[in-house]
Amino acid sequence: MSLKITHLGTGSRGNSTLLETDEVKILIDQGFSGAQLAKRLGLLGIKPEEIDCALISHHHGDHGGGASIAQKKWKMQILANERTVQELNLDPMLTTYFGSLDMIRIGDELSVLPVPVPHSGSDNVAFIASYRGERAAVITDLGSWTDELVKHVYGCEHISIEANYDENRLNSGPYPFSLKERIRGRGGHLSNNQTGQFLAEVCTEATRSIVLTHLSEKNNSPHLAESTVLYYISDVFDGDIHISLQDGPEKTHYIGKELPQADEVPIENNP
Ligand SMILES: [Zn+2]
Ligand SMILES: [Zn+2]
Repeated sequence: MSLKITHLGTGSRGNSTLLETDEVKILIDQGFSGAQLAKRLGLLGIKPEEIDCALISHHHGDHGGGASIAQKKWKMQILANERTVQELNLDPMLTTYFGSLDMIRIGDELSVLPVPVPHSGSDNVAFIASYRGERAAVITDLGSWTDELVKHVYGCEHISIEANYDENRLNSGPYPFSLKERIRGRGGHLSNNQTGQFLAEVCTEATRSIVLTHLSEKNNSPHLAESTVLYYISDVFDGDIHISLQDGPEKTHYIGKELPQADEVPIENNP
């Protein structure tokens, strides 16, 4: 079996992504209410009690706001860094700390690497999941990027990354000036152009699928995000590109080399 990556929904009203192997089921972020998480997992035939753990990128409500609820309702194990744990007031009995660039092993074959990213007022991390020789990156809420992030995302088979706003829409839109400045800043969010530039640095011929996430409902649109990003990467990327919006679950993506099944061995090779 492969590693399956399914966004349960992304955006400023809540984020959570399901990573699933035949051995484990984990969430990246839990920014939904208990009822919303249960409903979205239920559409995939999964109960919240089946989730082995949730890794939280940072404490903002749309990413970590439902972590404590999941601990109370389902005794869900939460993994996060020190700042995020403090801000979310988590149950210590159900919480495990990780540090930046600590390789987190979950089950025998899945590992996840947290890589710090710049996002004001938080200790945010991107996650790089590795499974059977392939890698999937889940990156959100960053105003800029570091060489370290490029190094870890370079050549990933799957990349989910925010494309938060279109610059013209943000500039001419309804937000107050101070909020516009915060979104545009080095600790804010990535614009469609910035996401395109980042992807042009990290996509290789190994990259098969990209999902653009966390689109602003006021300052972006799916077609603007996709067309802007494709402008930057069309020379290097000819895989699948999809958009994740607020209401999932959405299309599932797969990575990880399939091991041959016993019944797939050609007959002539059998004694
Ligand atoms: Zn967010
Ligand atoms: Zn945030």
